[in-house]
Amino acid sequence: MPVSGPAADSAAGPGAADFLPLSRAEMEARGWDALDVLLVTGDAYVDHPAFGAALLGRWLEAHGLRVGIVAQPRWDTPTDVARLGRPRLFAGVTAGALDSLLAHYTAFRKRRRDDAYTPGGRAGARPNRAVIVYSGLLRQAFPGLPIVLGGIEASMRRAAHYDFWDDNLRRSVLLDSKADVLVYGMGERAALEIARRLQSDPRTARRPDSAAARELLRGIPGTAWWHGAAARPDAAAAQPLPSYEDIQADPRRLMAATLMIEQQALRHSPALCQSCEGRTVLFAPPPPPLTTAEMDALYALPFQRRPHPAYREPIPAAEMIRFSITSHRGCAGGCSFCALALHQGRQVQSRSAASILAEAAALTRDPAWRGSVTDVGGPTANMWGAVCAGRWETCRRASCLFPELCRRFRLEQTQAIRLLRNLAALPGVKHVRSASGVRHDLALGSVEYVRALVAEFVGGQLKLAPEHSAPRVLRLMRKPDFAVFERFLNLFETECRRSGRELYVVPYLISAFPGCTDEDMRRLAAWLGRRGWSPQQVQCFIPTPGTVASAMFYGGIAEDGAPIFVARSDAARLRQHRLLLNAVKRTGSRRHEQPRPAVAD
Ligand code: SF4
Repeated sequence: MPVSGPAADSAAGPGAADFLPLSRAEMEARGWDALDVLLVTGDAYVDHPAFGAALLGRWLEAHGLRVGIVAQPRWDTPTDVARLGRPRLFAGVTAGALDSLLAHYTAFRKRRRDDAYTPGGRAGARPNRAVIVYSGLLRQAFPGLPIVLGGIEASMRRAAHYDFWDDNLRRSVLLDSKADVLVYGMGERAALEIARRLQSDPRTARRPDSAAARELLRGIPGTAWWHGAAARPDAAAAQPLPSYEDIQADPRRLMAATLMIEQQALRHSPALCQSCEGRTVLFAPPPPPLTTAEMDALYALPFQRRPHPAYREPIPAAEMIRFSITSHRGCAGGCSFCALALHQGRQVQSRSAASILAEAAALTRDPAWRGSVTDVGGPTANMWGAVCAGRWETCRRASCLFPELCRRFRLEQTQAIRLLRNLAALPGVKHVRSASGVRHDLALGSVEYVRALVAEFVGGQLKLAPEHSAPRVLRLMRKPDFAVFERFLNLFETECRRSGRELYVVPYLISAFPGCTDEDMRRLAAWLGRRGWSPQQVQCFIPTPGTVASAMFYGGIAEDGAPIFVARSDAARLRQHRLLLNAVKRTGSRRHEQPRPAVAD
């Protein structure tokens, strides 16, 4: 059932003028009769850089564009997406911070009851396949308006992909949504270029229309576009992926397509194309990563760091991040199940220490400030400042850390400690916490880093992601050997004794990963039992769209094409999951029990 978001055309409440407009009244208060860009999102509008619509909206606003947001619109009628009027240039569509199917269903396809990105934390504020549904509504509301997809749902579904919820292969979401262009990855550069081209071309400057826009917007770095059956020079110049029909005929072909898309996302590589039912989808290479100066400028935009005042109930995700700081984006880890490197890139893009310190100083002036910076991090806490000393543009490795640390990977973890200490020394700051997951193989490279983390910056629990203990499974995941995790635990425990602090490790574990057998799960459970651990962060593997691990699940093969065992049915997956949970329960230990429930239920 659709539910309504904030009341349409709600009067501008206190502080509303400091946010991007959510209503006609707020547009009119700014003296705007029309927007340049309308953003439609499946999340509530929280004006914080961790929310994609806010980040992109503020970025476009900083480049002189009039941007408004329709957040969590009704989807039984186009009137809600139309409430700010037809924008002059284009409408951007995102499902929100998560793929809408992942947001709605557990690993065993049960409906979730909550949604952290919605007022009151209630589920049901966005439709399944949100980008397709929102695009359809926009087509009805504004015929001919260029529609641009973005965000994680669109990004990871940009080519033919396995859909766990349909248990089937799906076409590119660009074709299913009938949108004009898709922005993959972090969209700042691509979205700005789209706006500039539409603004500056005489064919579209007055009233852009979908067909002309599709011509004009081809080839922008970081985008995908499509065209019909007629042969086109851009497709002739692109490297062909296995087609949708090829993959349907032989699911193992999804692996080849996924690895080619991954390579394109990680380095400078040629355009790709994929044919599907007589049409062709093309994928331009990604734009260059943001520089430190650009990252600093982005995070210095006038974010209010809180939900728009139209909301009456708290939004759990906004509460969680209100006093946290994003220090970097991108991940060099390249884990095969993770969408992050594919979305944010392998190159770590870090903010400067000065920019992070300025943000922390601003946090201390918030009336709700209680003295704690709750997190300083990114996808992986200890990758801030990491750089490639080689030529990443031509590097074919999917991971800088696996199967072994690349000798060109440079990371000075003592810099991170200096940063955390400088943050802690700011007036009004009582605590600084590092709550993002730590990459334990990297942390082992600096005893000084682990010592400082333990003594000063871990609040009680340290999140680590060994994910499994079986060597074969870890290789399929592109994770370090389990012995590395055990070495880290020894160091961690030594440092806990040295500092006199009682801290716990929160190990994140995955059951039913492709290649994992029941016996592998029993061995992992036995290891946990020997340590007397009762971890609650056990996630049953979900083959999310577009990852290498999902290609393993769908095709039943490893990256090298070798056949692997896959626990495919829900019954087989649940059995693996229970093997771990039940064995852990039998230990009767409450040590290391975590406060959050298991993700899969
Ligand atoms: S050369 Fe090494 S550090 Fe640079 S991108 Fe490749 S793997 Fe990473």
